[in-house]
Amino acid sequence: MKGLMQDWPLLVPTVLDHACTYHGTREVISRTVEGPIHRYTYIDLNRRSRKIASALQKMGVKPGDILGTMAWNGYRHMEIWYGLMGLGGIVHTLNPRLFADQLIYIINHAEDRYLFLDLTFVPVIEAIQDRLDTIKGFIIMTDDEHMPETTLENVLCYETLIEQGDEDFSWPKLDENTACGLCYTSGTTGNPKGVLYSHRSNVLHAMATNAADALGLKSQDNVMAVVPMFHANAWSLVFSGPMAGANMVMPGALMDGASIYEMLEVGRVSLTAAVPTVWLMLLTYLKETGKKLDFLERVVIGGSACPPSMLEVFEKTYDTQVIHAWGMTEMSPLGSLCTIKGGLENLKVSEKAAIKIKQGRPPYTVEMKITDDDGNELARDGKAFGHLMVRGPGVARSYLKQEDEPILDEDGWFDTGDVSTLDGFGYMQITDRAKDVIKSGGEWISTIELENLAVGHDDVTEAAVIGVAHPKWDERPLLVIVRTEGSSLSGEEIRAYLQGKIAKWWLPDDVVFVEEIPHTATGKIHKLTLREQFKDYTLPNV
Ligand code: AMP
Repeated sequence: MKGLMQDWPLLVPTVLDHACTYHGTREVISRTVEGPIHRYTYIDLNRRSRKIASALQKMGVKPGDILGTMAWNGYRHMEIWYGLMGLGGIVHTLNPRLFADQLIYIINHAEDRYLFLDLTFVPVIEAIQDRLDTIKGFIIMTDDEHMPETTLENVLCYETLIEQGDEDFSWPKLDENTACGLCYTSGTTGNPKGVLYSHRSNVLHAMATNAADALGLKSQDNVMAVVPMFHANAWSLVFSGPMAGANMVMPGALMDGASIYEMLEVGRVSLTAAVPTVWLMLLTYLKETGKKLDFLERVVIGGSACPPSMLEVFEKTYDTQVIHAWGMTEMSPLGSLCTIKGGLENLKVSEKAAIKIKQGRPPYTVEMKITDDDGNELARDGKAFGHLMVRGPGVARSYLKQEDEPILDEDGWFDTGDVSTLDGFGYMQITDRAKDVIKSGGEWISTIELENLAVGHDDVTEAAVIGVAHPKWDERPLLVIVRTEGSSLSGEEIRAYLQGKIAKWWLPDDVVFVEEIPHTATGKIHKLTLREQFKDYTLPNV
């Protein structure tokens, strides 16, 4: 027998409707690319989201169409998200830090119809426009006055376009499983893979991660999404903030300590979220200036592991609670958040500190287990570590256009590629990455890609890349080379050789020459041994 309750689809525009109706005067405060700080309310966001949806429809955009955005966190980007998703279209967020070949690949693979661009990114796309196969035009996210000179073809001005839309536009009735967002993983081997979110997965993920024991956002909060909207849905804040009726603060392009501090103060921010690198810059700024965090109650730190020293400074010096979080693009993205749970209040301070540094507990809707290489579940004892497997309505079941290549095991579990422990209280801690990817400033650098390029040089016999600790970027690549006999190749020469073949920030910070690179029994480079060998290595620019 079926229940007799309403079939109310979980759709992204219902979040905006709710925010507008019950929290209409709450604000979205944005630092614009043009310069000034812009403020308006959820009523304005709702009006303009409908207008842009209507304008796009008049332009011929249809449900199911994929449109790309290369934009910072700001009010226009929010309008595009709500407007296009509400229309039944799909927002494909492009990470501007990808290098040209990857961007071209994902834009063509997704078959993006139009690209929305912040002023900052016009030159990035100008350089590759000839290689984009499916793009019909570009919409520059500014007003008439700030429209740039550009070689892009079929260019529209966002503010001119939106004026052609109707603010009474009605959202079409959609099935809740309709696709609405697309984000490519930064593939470490092979091409990036597209994760295709649905209205249902976004809404459920926003609700789940906003539970009181997780993000716990409320209408009194002022929430700043520092984590970019192009980095795994800005960890859902663009949905969970309006859902809760919180003010949203959108910091735009400037991530340095002084600029982030200014937005924390202007927006009287009570909760914010970003990768450790951003917080390192803020903490350095605070130390240098002696300034205090006047309003900040909670800071969410994730994307890579939060160093214990950072947690301590936030909590002890600035009285700001740290919520360590873990997740991945394939998980919408939040998989766990670390808050102290009921029953543990009376633990000793040191015991609590040991828990707080873990990546946390899954919210309801995320299932988690660890397994050995044969798929057997391991003990939840905080000691055994194994493959971290997840399941839930916010977890991908396949990648875009690879539906016939299963990514789940027969019981529906997704292997995260991370290795972790799970303790008896339910807290998960990442102990290692299954892959050897380097995380620099929260972004990935593929060691295999660098190695393949380096060995392309005539004077290189063998090359290996490992991550070396860096105080600002977490990790930076160190290139280890075995030269061909008789060669006097220098570090500068090989770096010059790599320049232009990879994104600038992928360039190894240093190069060392060795007689031999260690190998495993099956002939693979033994990265573990290599890392051990260079564990005390200090990079030259540190
Ligand atoms: P992405 O899909 O780019 O968000 O990257 C996801 C990966 O980042 C995860 O599989 C982890 O390897 C890593 N990661 C994310 N958050 C954390 C964290 N708090 N601690 C350690 N690694 C993390």
